Amino acid sequence: MNSSPHREHPLALPVVALCGTGGLGLLVWALASQALEPTARTAVAAAGLGLGVMAVLWWRLSQQAAALHAAASTAQHEAQRATTQLSATLNILPDGLAIYDAEDRLVLCNAQYREVVAGTTMPVEYGMRFEDVLRQAADSGEITAAQQDTETWLAGRMARHRSPAGPEVQEVRGDRWMHITERHLEGGGVVVLRSDITDTVHKERALKQALDDAGRAERRLREAVDAMPAGLDIYDEHDRLVLCNSFMANLRPHLPVHTSLGKTYEELLHEGLKHGIPEEARGQEALWLAHEMALRGHRPGPEVRHYPNGAWMHMHESRTPSGMTVVVRLDISDLIEQRQKVEEARQESQRIRQLLERAVEALPVSIEIFDEQDRLVLYNQQLSRMYPHMDYAEHLGKHFADILRHSVKQGLVPSAHGREEAWIAERLSEHGSRTSNLVQRLADGRWINIYETRTPENYVVAVRLDITDLIEQRQALEAAQDAAQQARQLLQDAVESLPEGFALFDADDKLVVCNGQYRRLYPISAPMIVPGSTFEQIARYGAERGQYLDAVGNEEQWLAQRVADHHAAQHSVLQRLTDGRWVQADERRTPQGGIAGVRTDVTQLVRKEQELAAANAQLALLSTTDGVTGIGNRRRFDERLATEWLRCGRHLMPLSVILIDIDHFKLYNDHYGHLAGDECLRRVAQLLQSMTRRADEVAARYGGEEFVLLLPDVTLADAVVVAQRCMDNLRDAALPHPRSPTAPVLTLSMGIASVMPRAGTGSDTLVQAADAALYRAKNGGRNRFEVFEPAD
Ligand code: GH3
Ligand code: MG
Ligand code: MG
Repeated sequence: MNSSPHREHPLALPVVALCGTGGLGLLVWALASQALEPTARTAVAAAGLGLGVMAVLWWRLSQQAAALHAAASTAQHEAQRATTQLSATLNILPDGLAIYDAEDRLVLCNAQYREVVAGTTMPVEYGMRFEDVLRQAADSGEITAAQQDTETWLAGRMARHRSPAGPEVQEVRGDRWMHITERHLEGGGVVVLRSDITDTVHKERALKQALDDAGRAERRLREAVDAMPAGLDIYDEHDRLVLCNSFMANLRPHLPVHTSLGKTYEELLHEGLKHGIPEEARGQEALWLAHEMALRGHRPGPEVRHYPNGAWMHMHESRTPSGMTVVVRLDISDLIEQRQKVEEARQESQRIRQLLERAVEALPVSIEIFDEQDRLVLYNQQLSRMYPHMDYAEHLGKHFADILRHSVKQGLVPSAHGREEAWIAERLSEHGSRTSNLVQRLADGRWINIYETRTPENYVVAVRLDITDLIEQRQALEAAQDAAQQARQLLQDAVESLPEGFALFDADDKLVVCNGQYRRLYPISAPMIVPGSTFEQIARYGAERGQYLDAVGNEEQWLAQRVADHHAAQHSVLQRLTDGRWVQADERRTPQGGIAGVRTDVTQLVRKEQELAAANAQLALLSTTDGVTGIGNRRRFDERLATEWLRCGRHLMPLSVILIDIDHFKLYNDHYGHLAGDECLRRVAQLLQSMTRRADEVAARYGGEEFVLLLPDVTLADAVVVAQRCMDNLRDAALPHPRSPTAPVLTLSMGIASVMPRAGTGSDTLVQAADAALYRAKNGGRNRFEVFEPAD
């Protein structure tokens, strides 16, 4: 505040002059100007008059103000002096202090306030506005926050100044720190207190650093503790849990860490017991707890504990000098598991060893094992039994050479006689190096098979087997084989010496043996007739190449039948070969399931048989033929009657017979002579023969001048027709018979009978019936036929 006293307002004179001149000008212009409307002219004149009055009033006021100002200036001067004194007094304060008035102008401050930083004093004047003081401080470059962007900092600072929220901490050059407090005064104005808190800030910073370091160290420690592959519990001097790492937390899922911290060891044990942990405490919780608590802090050493998750832990408990209890649990599950495995493996190996020993004893062979220095280390009882005169218990641990020498001395090995040392040397040289068996004959006649082998450990395992039985069996077998060979040869010789073809097939139907005759009988099949070929192969080979006449054109069917017959237990067949020969094949199944076949060339025999059969047929025909008439005789009629009787009986057919007798034939003979009589008989025979139509109808001479017609499947009515036709034909022939009392020509009398043959009745009844009818025809006057009518 440096305004000079006793002076009017600096603007008073110019304003009064301007207003006075302006007002007068306007008034004159308004009155003189003709361009203005009368209304506008009045207004402008009024304005000019107003301005003039204003200038006069202003001038009066300015005079009064100047007087007042002079009085105030005196008062201000005194106040300034008081201010300077107060300011000097404030300089003794350790902190900066400033007072701003209601218009935010500096009214008082001490030297410390002027120093932004020690040694740099701002040229601050009273009356300066707070903002200007700030700007000065900012421009000094001492305020760190204002260095970058003064205006922004200023705006922020001013905002806080207008509505302070609390003390402000400001950094100034040289890492120094100021604490600025602003207090608003009643009635306006503000007191600013600025204290150097550098020491405090530095101390705080150091403390924070220390705290950060401590925090980091603690974090690291916690991480390290959590990373430990072991459980860690720490209890304070009152036995309360103060630390537990995550390993431990995982091991005790029933005790969450946040609820467990702060609890005593005993309380934690209680918690565990509530959850049934540990298992071994169940049912005797109080006892277990008492025992556990008694041991607390006095454990003689680490303890092995089994946890609910299956883990095995080593628990170490130790006390620190300050009375804390540190419990470390190490996971020894692997160790325990390995120990169990080792134990199991040991037991298994023990078991296997026992098994092995039993197996070695159970073996049907003798075993001996020599170590790498060729000392007997193991043998079984079979060895002692095999060599009863040797005491192997005594030889245990002895060298093989000594054992050999001992047995040679006992004379056990005949092949060593007279050359004992050489034999021992040989035996030693090959000991354990044999790859083939050594067969040794003992003095008592037994045969021993020795097999020695060297193990990768350089041990020799010798296995001895008494093969006396085997050798004897082999000898017997060889003898049997020789005998069998001889027998086979004998058989072959015998088979070859057979006049017939012979072949033997085994149970699989394969040819085992056959002779030359067999092959020669079937020249076409011969290439296939070799041992090993099956019967079917041989038969097919022959059939497909035309060996068998009956097979030509239907080979497959013939083969199927032939093979089926071949497999029958007993079978004979006559084969026609295409070269005209006949072969008789006889086959029999052998007790071993094979098939023995004999083939005989029966061509001659068959031919003779065929001739004989033809002769017999001729003979048979002759024996049933009438010598005079050439038609069938009585024998033929009888034979056919018997046959047809049965046939008609089977088929329910009628059988008819017509018995015919020449009338007065004696007289015919008498008249014409016997030879003519024969000729007459032949004529009648031919006539009757011509009556037969079917092959089963027979015309025969029944005897003397009697004839018969046998008519199967012909009813009585049809038989009557036949009889009538005979009568008609003979009448038509009109053979003269001059001496016949019946007619001048030859006549016949006939008896007809017909029947349905039935079981239990004889055919002779039919003939008798016909005969009875014939008798009636004779008595009835001859030259007629009569039908048999059974008597009532
Ligand atoms: P009837 O009418 O009663 O039959 O009179 P018959 O003369 O024919 O009958 P009888 O039985 O009296 O005579 C049959 C004669 O047939 C007697 C015999 O000499 C004759 N006779 C028998 N067999 C032959 C033969 O083979 N040749 C010849 N020529 N006559 C025969
Ligand atoms: Mg007669
Ligand atoms: Mg007669």
